Amino acid sequence: MLIKTNALSPSPPETAVTTHPKIIEGIAREVMARASGGNVSVRVADNPGYVFTDSDQLFRETGLAGLAALPGVCVGPLSDLGTRLISNDGFRVLRDARISARYLDAAYCINAPKLKTHVETEMSGCIKNIFGSADTETRKKAHRSSSQARLADAIVDIFSVRPPEFNIVDAVVGMEGDGPSHGTPRQIGLIIAGQNALAVDWVLCRVMCYSDPASIPLMRAAIDRGVGPASESEIALNGADWDELPAAGFRKSTGALRALPTFIRGLAHGLVKITPGLDEALCVSCWVCKEVCPVDAISDAGRYPLIDRKKCVRCLCCHEMCPTGAMAVRNNVLASLVSGTRR
Ligand code: SF4
Ligand code: SF4
Repeated sequence: MLIKTNALSPSPPETAVTTHPKIIEGIAREVMARASGGNVSVRVADNPGYVFTDSDQLFRETGLAGLAALPGVCVGPLSDLGTRLISNDGFRVLRDARISARYLDAAYCINAPKLKTHVETEMSGCIKNIFGSADTETRKKAHRSSSQARLADAIVDIFSVRPPEFNIVDAVVGMEGDGPSHGTPRQIGLIIAGQNALAVDWVLCRVMCYSDPASIPLMRAAIDRGVGPASESEIALNGADWDELPAAGFRKSTGALRALPTFIRGLAHGLVKITPGLDEALCVSCWVCKEVCPVDAISDAGRYPLIDRKKCVRCLCCHEMCPTGAMAVRNNVLASLVSGTRR
């Protein structure tokens, strides 16, 4: 039994960057209790963001390491058994993908993400969490995509290889604002669970105050590929009503596209730009941003990172992985006019 957590970076649970260890502990305890024969072992695992190679530190700081004290439970990276190269005629963006053998071979996988905003994909939930089953180079290839829609398709390429058997989302405290690394913890008080990842993500989007989840490129891509329900009416929601899901005043990620009516979002993609911008006062010149940039657009020739705007594909990986928040997210002038969110 594999529990695919979200352990993006070595961040303490109270930052809401990673799935809270208490949620993972609850899942693991429930699995062990149901396995009355005692012949189940549980592995809690994830691949962190590219630059976090010290898995001991990762699991210690996220609070997950302590779960290894539970009988039958171990905690470790998803990469411990290597990867397998998957070629799939159904892929739309990637030619092939290197996926964790540990993930591919799991007899049963419970996908356990955190409810978070995401500056690139707007929301991070079940489908996005499975992106972490791919190796660094595959994820970088996906981030080289020319548009948000193509990145979404690349994420669905990877998700489709081996969908998880069950999904449990930690939305007790989620993240709003500029997630998935630098947003703000937001008390929500929900755990959202279900067999179909897209159905669960649909509920997640409604919690995040999206009236039309299908307008989000990642959701649209998943719906188009038939990985789950195409509309709310196909989802059997238990334990809550749709109307009571939205977390009042939930702050979506930065970006004018979020503020546009659905019917012109597609047209506006080429004009409305969201780009990285450096706040030198916060920069500690660690060069993580240079390391994660999938198109080598960042130079370390000076004291601070310099972005080659011609090369930059605006994937915002540098923002996501910057440990200090120095690589901020900025909208261009048109985006500001549309949304009033320039910063
Ligand atoms: S912007 Fe962030 S990641 Fe890049 S060098 Fe500065 S502190 Fe490091
Ligand atoms: S500079 Fe940042 S946003 Fe631009 S391509 Fe590199 S990582 Fe992506």
